[in-house]
Amino acid sequence: MSRELQAGERVLVVDTKKRRHLVTLVEGGEFHTHAGAMKHDDLIGHPEGITVRTTKNQRLLVLRPTLGEYILEMPRGAQVIYPKDIGPILVLADVFPGARVLESGIGSGALTMAILRSIGTHGRLYGYEIRDDFSKRAQENVRAYLGDDLPFEVEVRDIYGGIDHVDLDRILLDLPEPWQVVPHAEKALRPGGILLSYLPTIGQVMRLREVLETSNFGMAETVEILQRGWHIEGQSVRPDHRMVAHTGFLTTARLLLAEEVPAEL
Ligand code: SAH
Repeated sequence: MSRELQAGERVLVVDTKKRRHLVTLVEGGEFHTHAGAMKHDDLIGHPEGITVRTTKNQRLLVLRPTLGEYILEMPRGAQVIYPKDIGPILVLADVFPGARVLESGIGSGALTMAILRSIGTHGRLYGYEIRDDFSKRAQENVRAYLGDDLPFEVEVRDIYGGIDHVDLDRILLDLPEPWQVVPHAEKALRPGGILLSYLPTIGQVMRLREVLETSNFGMAETVEILQRGWHIEGQSVRPDHRMVAHTGFLTTARLLLAEEVPAEL
């Protein structure tokens, strides 16, 4: 990536009130906010981290968005998985460079981008998404951030009806009835492969855990991730007054071999 900002890039613009905007740079383009207008040409060719003044003499800071910032600001169809959960998901599901991964649904593509970064160019990501419009939006979001040359394909289909891919290392689910996927996942994952499911309510988690109990999956675990921000300003150092108290529960399980090896006599 070039050090200088280029036309066509999506940049993060932060005003003095910490409001954030995602802006696609266009030659000759202008960006308008409450804080006044700014010319894209004042940014193109300059390094990120630059501060510019608007027509109302307000300061705007311009940076390339991190993945976490991009996820929070990008156009959304479905609810995204938040950065606080995405980091742990990658570790709990042990997504590694070169992995063959299936993700369903794709939603807005937030988790998709994190998986693609982790599997690298030698991995493979298959996406199953039931809604054509979400599939398109997600692919636009992903390509705008990571580029076009990605080991990634999306099929518009219902994963409850089955999985056509085999020998998968990981299956990551963010959909309402993951227990319907368990029998398909038993055939699609390789032994030792990991199934991870993100679920908003504990009733869904119970149902999934019950179905996992009667399957060839083992080592099941469920966690939730709490993140508390801190306000740090001079002598005022304390937790933030507000926090996101709940997003979803993360459940993982590993596919085991059905048969035990008999003990040697
Ligand atoms: N993890 C995504 C958000 C997924 S939202 C993100 O981080 O952006 C849940 C998605 O699952 C929706 O897009 C919905 O259309 C899709 N979905 C629901 N049921 C499905 C099914 N049976 N098969 C495939 N996709 C499904």
